[in-house]
Amino acid sequence: MKALRWNGKHRVDVEEVPDPKIEHPSDAIIKVTSTAICGSDLHLYDGVVPTMEYGDILGHEPMGEVIEIGSEVSNLSNLKIGDRVVVPFVIACGHCLFCKSSKFSLCDDSNPNAELPEKLYGASPAGLFGFSHMYGGFAGGQAQYLRVPFADVGPIVIPEHLPDEKVLFLSDIFPTGWMAAENCDIQPGDIVAIWGGGPVGQMAVRSAFILGAGRVIVIDNIEERLEMARKGGAETINFQYDKEDAEGHEANLFDQLKSMTEGHGPHSCIDAVGMEAHGTDPGMIYDWIKMGLRMATDRPNVLRQCIQACRKGGTVSVPGVYAGFLDKIPFGAVFNKGLTLKAGQTHVQKYTQPLLELIDSGKIDPSFVITHMLPLDSAPAAYETFKQKEDGCIKVVLKPWETQTAGKIQDFENVHKPDTPSPPSAANA
Ligand code: NAD
Ligand code: ZN
Repeated sequence: MKALRWNGKHRVDVEEVPDPKIEHPSDAIIKVTSTAICGSDLHLYDGVVPTMEYGDILGHEPMGEVIEIGSEVSNLSNLKIGDRVVVPFVIACGHCLFCKSSKFSLCDDSNPNAELPEKLYGASPAGLFGFSHMYGGFAGGQAQYLRVPFADVGPIVIPEHLPDEKVLFLSDIFPTGWMAAENCDIQPGDIVAIWGGGPVGQMAVRSAFILGAGRVIVIDNIEERLEMARKGGAETINFQYDKEDAEGHEANLFDQLKSMTEGHGPHSCIDAVGMEAHGTDPGMIYDWIKMGLRMATDRPNVLRQCIQACRKGGTVSVPGVYAGFLDKIPFGAVFNKGLTLKAGQTHVQKYTQPLLELIDSGKIDPSFVITHMLPLDSAPAAYETFKQKEDGCIKVVLKPWETQTAGKIQDFENVHKPDTPSPPSAANA
């Protein structure tokens, strides 16, 4: 089969590899029909996540058709050959202490390389598809076929009338944006600020409104991403530009957030950027230098800003990925403002069914975020375009079995979305 392999920092190639096989009676094999590139893949592409090996197959946002199931699978679930399924990026056994309390991304049994994160973090999170050997070294889904361990727990069967584009993001970014918002414990009318207008930030905008936020403020410096956030009902700040505050004084990011929130700051702040923040403020320059000297793995400036900006008693929710030991985190502010910090990989399996119902009922159509639809063969170029945020690229969907696809969003809209009705509410933009 064809698969996208990591061949070093900033080097991915589509290559022929052996087809995956059932290795355990609870495995299934799916023929991948759609698969996306995630901001998390960029951390791997940029070489900042340890324990990648040459030849690793990337990808953790796949869906497809079940073509083979192990002998135990049908006994444990209703999964059958021919089902169309979305596969969560988190691999979870379903019956350990953590899975039983729906903390699927903390599964105790799915990471065969648990000793690596145990040394670093004190305990191991779940195994993940296509996400380095520290998370199990599982082959990913940017490929024509995928082996799915614990197939009775992860894949969710999709009704025939829902096209791939509407449901694909149940694999990751929709549950991730949702959990990021849910972790904010939003009270009706709350103001939620979201750093990062990437796909995760965009899903967090829509989720926060559905969960009762009164206002959402998105911070980024890429205009088309801010524009997409505004279409979802958010207000926006371009962090590159100081503006004037309500009194006409020059206002930096913190001043702007204060003047937009009657001086108190947002009730909750979501870091949907993670370890590779960019920018030129002093905190960023400090991080760039430390990283340049190989004295740091992460650039946590957005996390610092979230803590600094958050209202007293508020919550900082961190879906953005971090890997190592973070420097200059203002923990005094966390303590003295009585903040709550929540973070982690998403418990995807907990959210797939309720979020599928939201999609099916027409409350949200996550396909709004797709800007590029390309054959798997174009994945190396797509990684670079997505990384550089060129060509209006916000989310790429790859088609492993097609040699020609619609390409950019304009064409995609004509080919794939001829009958899409206009969104009924802001949450649907
Ligand atoms: P992305 O790279 O497309 O988006 C990140 C956005 O952050 C970009 O628009 C960028 O311009 C913006 N940004 C960079 N520096 C900034 C700054 N200083 N201030 C404000 N905005 C800034 O990625 P994505 O797919 O949206 O993913 C976002 C993060 O979420 C990544 O760290 C990814 O690894 C993580 N993620 C986590 C989970 C999880 O389970 N917790 C799942 C998926 C993705
Ligand atoms: Zn992802």
